[in-house]
Amino acid sequence: MKEAKVEKKVGWSKTPTSSVEDVKRKEAKVVETMCRDKDCHVHGNLKVRGRTFEGKVIKKFHKRIAIEFERMIYVRKYERYKKSRTKIHARLPVCMEKEINVGDLIKVQECRPLSKIIHFVVIEKIKSGGEGK
Ligand SMILES: [Zn+2]
Repeated sequence: MKEAKVEKKVGWSKTPTSSVEDVKRKEAKVVETMCRDKDCHVHGNLKVRGRTFEGKVIKKFHKRIAIEFERMIYVRKYERYKKSRTKIHARLPVCMEKEINVGDLIKVQECRPLSKIIHFVVIEKIKSGGEGK
């Protein structure tokens, strides 16, 4: 461990760092070739803005998922909060289709309306649900 650190400090030939960068670039290229989705926030030209939500995937379709999360709503009449469930349909980019399954906890962000019910896009996976279905 110590030797490696010394080598990095002393050796100002950039071979170790550059090789790592090359590998990363190659990986990026591979991903880029795999994903030709124009409605992908990473590889396509879809801009994300607005609100973000975290929720659990309840349904999965081709290029689309439905998530659900609970939020608290204030009821003025009783001066108390009640639980409410919100369902959101979100666009699932082709490059994330394999890693996201029903039961996962994911993060979605608002984007331009992609269809009548879709105006959110999946941006990242937070936790896998562990349900192998
Ligand atoms: Zn993509």
